[in-house]
Amino acid sequence: MDLSYTAEEEAFRAKVRGWIEANKPQGGARPGIEELRDWQKRLHAAGYLGAGWPKQHGGGGLSDLEQAILNEEFAHANAPGALGSMGISWVGPAILRFGTEQQKQKFVPRVLSGDDIWATGYSEPNAGSDMYNTQTRAVKDGDHYIINGQKVWTSLAHASNWYFLLVRTSTDGHKVAGLSLFLVPMDTPGIDIRPTPMITGDREFSEVFLSDVRVHQSCLLGKAGQGYEIVSSALINERSGIAAGIRFDQGVQKLIATARRFGLDQNPSWRERIASLAIQAKVMKAFGLRVLSDQLHGRFNPHTSAAMKCIATRLTQEFSETGVEMEGYYGTLFDVETSAMNDASSTWSGRYLSDRAMTIAGGTTEIQKNIVAERILGLPRR
Ligand SMILES: Cc1cc2nc3c(=O)[nH]c(=O)nc-3n(C[C@H](O)[C@H](O)[C@H](O)COP(=O)(O)OP(=O)(O)OC[C@H]3O[C@@H](n4cnc5c(N)ncnc54)[C@H](O)[C@@H]3O)c2cc1C
Repeated sequence: MDLSYTAEEEAFRAKVRGWIEANKPQGGARPGIEELRDWQKRLHAAGYLGAGWPKQHGGGGLSDLEQAILNEEFAHANAPGALGSMGISWVGPAILRFGTEQQKQKFVPRVLSGDDIWATGYSEPNAGSDMYNTQTRAVKDGDHYIINGQKVWTSLAHASNWYFLLVRTSTDGHKVAGLSLFLVPMDTPGIDIRPTPMITGDREFSEVFLSDVRVHQSCLLGKAGQGYEIVSSALINERSGIAAGIRFDQGVQKLIATARRFGLDQNPSWRERIASLAIQAKVMKAFGLRVLSDQLHGRFNPHTSAAMKCIATRLTQEFSETGVEMEGYYGTLFDVETSAMNDASSTWSGRYLSDRAMTIAGGTTEIQKNIVAERILGLPRR
């Protein structure tokens, strides 16, 4: 296997690196929503968003390898992600795959430009891992649907103007056959968003109540009954995005800096622990390169994203646990009140708290293990 890059690829890398250096938002505190929206517009104008999407829908038309270089350089520079990352990672690809031509024209360019920010509404009080149990109902009424129900854990609901919403359109036959996916404007009358504070003090989540929400049938993505298929393909993108988004190289450097600051860098047991995490980070990188190589050679198994998510999210928790332990008493000094203004992930204690969520978001570790067992290892279903 040849892991080196060609001269053209290295030139592309240098161009991306220079661009990020000149354009990256400055300052230590976490950028606000408007600053992130502006950052997204600049990324889009440079052709660095929707890198693999078709050019006719505003994508960058880059190869898989160029996308990988792009991701590496953004991680290297510790540049922030786009505000509309959910739209870019899975809503846009789902519309490109299942949408009508009219839906593609209407939504895809605005997903990339940041003019539309999307939230995702799958989870309900009694339907998280068990999506088949989705209870939110959409009932046909002429050329409209009337939606009633409740969603939980909707990330960025308060900052979004569109909702990627999973509902039940039928109770006949197998539970999965009655699920459908709607593209719903967040300001439709009957949508009530109630924020749920997180342990870090962030207000990223909301409960969303839907009471007699009336949407036109043109808001249906794909066909009625195709919701589970759409969500399954979107979740594959979400899981690989979660795994790829974790920046282990910075984590290793940060652990080394913490060890130096607390005088632990000569201590053999801490050195061994950091070295072990650095090796696991390298293994994750090699895993990513193998997936990329499989993709380039047409051998890609989409369920690999379940394995990657499982390993990467547990590893990031080990990083933050190690950081907090090295800091000792200082590791407990996390101020929930100010964390929403500062970047919680910039402190080990903030990361420790927010990393708890990583093994749950996008499907829990137990569910990923079930997928690995059944879809990759071919073990019998329980
Ligand atoms: C940071 C974060 C962001 C999120 N953002 C969104 C969002 O934007 N939109 C959205 O819709 N949802 C979102 N979620 C919700 C997330 O998708 C769910 O929390 C997740 O799918 C688990 O569902 P649940 O919380 O209902 O737990 P449950 O499904 O009730 O699971 C409870 C426990 O039982 C285990 N379990 C369940 N079924 C099985 C099984 N078959 N085999 C083995 N173990 C099992 C689970 O692993 C878990 O440990 C987010 C969650 C987090 C943490």
